[in-house]
Amino acid sequence: MKKVLKVAALVVCVCMLVCAFVGCAGDDKKDVIVMGTNAEFPPFEYVTENGIVGQFSGIDVAIAKEIADSMGKELVIENMEFESLIMALATGKVDFVAAGMTVKPDRLESVDFSDTYYLAKQVMIVKEGSDIKSAADLEGKKIGVVLGYTGDTTVTETLGYEPERFKKGADAVMDLVNDKLDVVVIDSAPAKAFVDKNPGLAIVEDAEAFENEEYAIAIPKGDTELADKINTVLKELKESGKIDEFGATYSE
Ligand code: GLN
Repeated sequence: MKKVLKVAALVVCVCMLVCAFVGCAGDDKKDVIVMGTNAEFPPFEYVTENGIVGQFSGIDVAIAKEIADSMGKELVIENMEFESLIMALATGKVDFVAAGMTVKPDRLESVDFSDTYYLAKQVMIVKEGSDIKSAADLEGKKIGVVLGYTGDTTVTETLGYEPERFKKGADAVMDLVNDKLDVVVIDSAPAKAFVDKNPGLAIVEDAEAFENEEYAIAIPKGDTELADKINTVLKELKESGKIDEFGATYSE
């Protein structure tokens, strides 16, 4: 009899534990929305002392905060390598990706994108006085790109050069400053941020060699409900001029 009681008590305990745990997990999921990013891409996402969410700040973080607020959820940021973002989204580790991410056909195979919110281009960062004046001058030069960025595929596949690949734009720019590279190919807005921070560097554009790119928020394939919610917020932010305001605020 005693044994039966003990077993019954144990069963009740386990049930209570399981219920408490499931209850908690359920609540967490309801209150939180997780953004995946690579916070090495100023002015869109970067690490700073007092960010919008913890140490994270930038245009994308400001947009994501608006999205989370509109859903009554707390924004949580998962910072990881740019290369890992699409996989993290496809496997449900993050709810969406805001990372200055360009809409590209190969990415569309694994994820969907929101409406676009920013027009960008690849540019070349060089040392002032460099003889690189156009993409054709990249021939024979030591070129730095960031692994997996559109700059990487453009230089490699479209232009046919073999660049050196870095994990962070800032590391490539450091090597340019230290004369280990001749040029860094990267998106226009971070290029400006890096040049503003490092005297002696300049931006060279080549509108013919580098096509326009558009940034959007990546969402899980088929999640039209989330897409609608995000697009509604993006539309409001665009129409009210807030995205431009974010651009001005976080580019300083
Ligand atoms: N726009 C580029 C891309 O999508 C770089 C984005 C980034 O590094 N955050 O590949």
